Amino acid sequence: MSSVDFASLGISAPVLKAVQQLGYEQPSPVQEASIPILLEGKNLLGTAQTGTGKTAAFALPFLSKLDEKQKSPQILVLTPTRELAIQVAEAFQSYAKHIKGFHVLPIYGGADIGGQLRGLKRGAQVVVGTPGRMLDHLRRRSLDLSQIKGLILDEADEMLRMGFIDDVETILAKTPPECQRALFSATMPPAIKRVADKYLGDAEVVSIQNKTKTVERIAQSHLMVKGHQKMDALTRILDVEQFDGMIIFVRTKSSTLEIAEKLEARGFSSAALNGDLTQTLRERTINRLKKGQLDIVVATDVAARGLDVERISHVINYDVPYDNESYVHRIGRTGRAGREGKAIMFVTQKETRMLRSIEKSTRQPISSFNLPSNEEVSGQRITQFKEQLVGMCKSTKLDKFHSLVKEVAAENDIDMTLLAAALAYEAQKDRPLFPKMVAIDTPRATANDRSDRKERPKRDSRERAESRERPESRERPDSRDRSAKAPRTERPERAPRDKSDADDIPMVTYRIEVGRNDEVSPKNIVGAIANEAEIDAQYIGHIKLYDDHSTVDLPEGMPKELFDHLYKVRVCQKPLKISVDNGTAGEQRDAKPGFKDRKPAFKDKKDAAAKGKFAGAGQKPAFKGKPKAHRGQDSEVRKPRKRPVTDRK
Ligand code: AMP
Repeated sequence: MSSVDFASLGISAPVLKAVQQLGYEQPSPVQEASIPILLEGKNLLGTAQTGTGKTAAFALPFLSKLDEKQKSPQILVLTPTRELAIQVAEAFQSYAKHIKGFHVLPIYGGADIGGQLRGLKRGAQVVVGTPGRMLDHLRRRSLDLSQIKGLILDEADEMLRMGFIDDVETILAKTPPECQRALFSATMPPAIKRVADKYLGDAEVVSIQNKTKTVERIAQSHLMVKGHQKMDALTRILDVEQFDGMIIFVRTKSSTLEIAEKLEARGFSSAALNGDLTQTLRERTINRLKKGQLDIVVATDVAARGLDVERISHVINYDVPYDNESYVHRIGRTGRAGREGKAIMFVTQKETRMLRSIEKSTRQPISSFNLPSNEEVSGQRITQFKEQLVGMCKSTKLDKFHSLVKEVAAENDIDMTLLAAALAYEAQKDRPLFPKMVAIDTPRATANDRSDRKERPKRDSRERAESRERPESRERPDSRDRSAKAPRTERPERAPRDKSDADDIPMVTYRIEVGRNDEVSPKNIVGAIANEAEIDAQYIGHIKLYDDHSTVDLPEGMPKELFDHLYKVRVCQKPLKISVDNGTAGEQRDAKPGFKDRKPAFKDKKDAAAKGKFAGAGQKPAFKGKPKAHRGQDSEVRKPRKRPVTDRK
């Protein structure tokens, strides 16, 4: 780990101030390597995935060079999904909070275009968006790229996977040739390399190489968890794990304080350890941990560098580390002096790739951690409570209390056991023996997981994409996942309510008016529908390509507004003109969708809700939009069509 700080990287004063206020202590490896290159105005080709700090790696230098007076877009960021667009826009906003008059605007499909048009008119120096919607704005001339000084392609391989690469190239071609460009991708498939060669020229390459390291004697596991439930998960682990000393690793200085405080409030003796503390204070904290006056230290990587305390039995990676090296260093704080150690890492869904990368570089699977149940926590607390009581009876002088209790029992004619129960009840109030704990959702690894599989040599679809061979049909991703021969540890725990997912959802076959003659591929269709209609990719079913049209299976119950929106969405320069497929290929080509003569999927909203496709019906909603039903005759449920003769497998 290096000792470079943000100030010495040369970022501007207002940006530095924001970063410091966010509690970032030190640049991550990708930031340390990329920021100087981008500040110098060079193009950059970076291999980095989510969790490495790549957003700040491009946002900080570009913001440092921002011309505050120019209100038209100066920085353009292309992302594969609306979620990432929002996240990146939020990151820009937080890093630019001391830049006066700063505006960032996320633009993505599925959202009201009116708001975006107004936002663009008002002026935004940074625009972050998905390729489809950006093209839409370019066509409407609402987005002006003539003054763009910096362009960033984020998660380029995901854009390729989702079929956006042609759109991306169209946008790239419209940016001024002198504009500075950066491309970040977790992998570098040939198609991405080709785009980079064409549009980034002699770019500097940043690739954080992960050396293989082995970690012995440390039992490693991971827990898939949502960000906002990490604290609940942590307290539950602390309740049942038999630990001696523990280090909890977080990313920011502010998190060390916040978590240490919360743990103290929950009765755990803990302290923060971060780079803001003086050397004396740091040493004092470490000494207290060594002597057992303190059990938990919440630390940043910088502050815990080289820390050697034998009694550390557990390391919790509350936030994932930036890279594999940092992971190995962190967990190496346990298992000292030949002892056994345990390491548990919290992983959010979008950080799955980091987990896989660590497993690969350490050549060790990181098993899934079983979060203790309510009963297990209760059992553990009861055991400890009993031990405490028995110990107290043996070791504490209780004469006065003994007489007091006897007196209360005699005066009120209360049975001694009832009195003891009342005292036990009072004593456990702060740490209930029969707790009712919040349910912790353990999400499953999805998109990243799939991308990882793509990296496996035998299942490599990168070459397929590159060799222009167009796969003709597309299995549902879910079923494809299941058939993949992945090691057990590759499938993290799934919350029971997720089990059904796409499989038991009735599908409707839709016809769209783009086909082989338009050089469309299933990837293009999935990408457009997933982004524009906000349909989770796992719910996009079978796709068949014909010469002049295609069919795609989508979950029953598409809200009318989404249908109307999809009707106009363009793929390969052509509007989808989606309609429910009635099997009469070719006859309906130009007809607007008219379903009046068909059997409706359901009659009204109540009926739709009862079918349970939308939020609140105990099943993950296929369509993320508002739970609106079709208004009567908009769809019909169809069995998948028979394979057309023209189908190539
Ligand atoms: P990213 O890889 O860009 O998705 O970033 C992952 C997370 O790391 C985000 O929550 C950032 O706020 C955080 N982060 C990025 N850089 C740093 C840093 N130098 N120090 C602490 N946290 C950071």
